Amino acid sequence: MSRSAHPAGPRHADVFTEGHYSAPAADLNVLDEKVWARTVTRDADGALTVGGIGVARLAEEFGTPAYFLDESDFRARCRAWSDAFGPDADVFYAGKAFLSRAVVRWLQEEGLHLDVCSGGELTTALDAGMPAERIAFHGNNKTAAEIERAVEAGVGRIVLDSFQEIVRVAHIARSHRVRQRVQIRVTVGVEAHTHEFIATAHEDQKFGIALADGQAAEAVRRTLALDSLELIGIHSHIGSQIFDMAGFEVSARRVVQLLAEVRDEHGVELPEIDLGGGLGIAYTSEDDPREPHEIAKALSDIVTRECESAGLRTPRISVEPGRAIVGPTAFTLYEVGTIKPLEGLRTYVSVDGGMSDNIRTALYDAEYSVALVSRTSDAEPMLVRVVGKHCESGDIVVKDAFLPADLAPGDLIAVPATGAYCRSMASNYNHALRPPVVAVRDGEARVIVRRETEEDLLRLDVG
Ligand SMILES: *Cc1c(COP(=O)(O)O)cnc(C)c1O
Repeated sequence: MSRSAHPAGPRHADVFTEGHYSAPAADLNVLDEKVWARTVTRDADGALTVGGIGVARLAEEFGTPAYFLDESDFRARCRAWSDAFGPDADVFYAGKAFLSRAVVRWLQEEGLHLDVCSGGELTTALDAGMPAERIAFHGNNKTAAEIERAVEAGVGRIVLDSFQEIVRVAHIARSHRVRQRVQIRVTVGVEAHTHEFIATAHEDQKFGIALADGQAAEAVRRTLALDSLELIGIHSHIGSQIFDMAGFEVSARRVVQLLAEVRDEHGVELPEIDLGGGLGIAYTSEDDPREPHEIAKALSDIVTRECESAGLRTPRISVEPGRAIVGPTAFTLYEVGTIKPLEGLRTYVSVDGGMSDNIRTALYDAEYSVALVSRTSDAEPMLVRVVGKHCESGDIVVKDAFLPADLAPGDLIAVPATGAYCRSMASNYNHALRPPVVAVRDGEARVIVRRETEEDLLRLDVG
């Protein structure tokens, strides 16, 4: 697979051969708790329920396709992350994974901070009442207008991504007579992905400032020289869907080295480091993600050890999980439309959504699982490919999976672990109407992002 597919595809460096799929699970009716939201279970009739509500009722009330998000699971994951890291660290939820005003309120109530990377995300965060000092503003090409709004709002930090941005943010902060807190995003020469990481000497990517060739040290020099900027730390984000902590180990070591250089050259110990996000989740039963407390312990051990050996005070750590918080909390519910068995190959199961509500399979070769959820079945497993209704043969939702052979049009099937990067990357391709996000909790379901309507489409099309 190509390197451009890195942000979330299957195991890095694997050769993904055509027709690769694992054997069917022993019992297709079992919902593996690793990939499903916490309150998901089957009721006495065999239908899936979430937050105590059955899928038949959800489909009837909210239609399909739709994303159903388990609110208590979301909140529990927020708490697990902040408890794991404790009072000497900050957990920033990466809003790009999925952001809505309800989500912002949950984050606020659970004591998390929030990463945004565009004016739209900033507006959503502020509108829902997230205190500006708990917001971090990211991005490799923030516009002057976006920086201006962030500075005016008083965001807790702006993460500087280039030499030009150092000057740009300093200028805007000065004209507002504020001293803006900033971090510098560095690229550490590590690309982490799932079970492996790759050490790269040069960073061929658009984000951050390279540690190599003294560039990051130069960025620190320039930032410290500007009165309108308060440099609070160094930021690094090494990849996505990472299970192996070795990449973080190398990254933390290199960031701490930079902190030591900064102390030696400028006599300042920067008080914070941010190790980014990218922690993996289970999309299929083959994935084995780590628990937040294991990740927290591993990261803080690494940082403490490296700082001790460099003779530095241990900085405050922050992390930025997006996928690991919201990913597992939602599933997409679809209705089966047509079923097309291709003799000797596989059966194509078409659903009423597709690449417009989940682009990750087409974009990154991402792997998903799927289950029949409106009923159980004792029929034999059949090899399927779940596809959408778009005019595009790459419109695949689940590349290889098994569903019961008695699957029929009208059955409801669900794809778990679609909370992250599905609604947030959804499109109107073929003038599809983007599905709603419905939060379910304690027997109540409410729409937090409504389904698009044809009026919405026509409103943008001014004719
Ligand atoms: C995307 C991103 C994250 C979140 O990544 P996940 O894989 O969702 O955890 C965190 N920090 C930065 C800077 C990012 O770009």
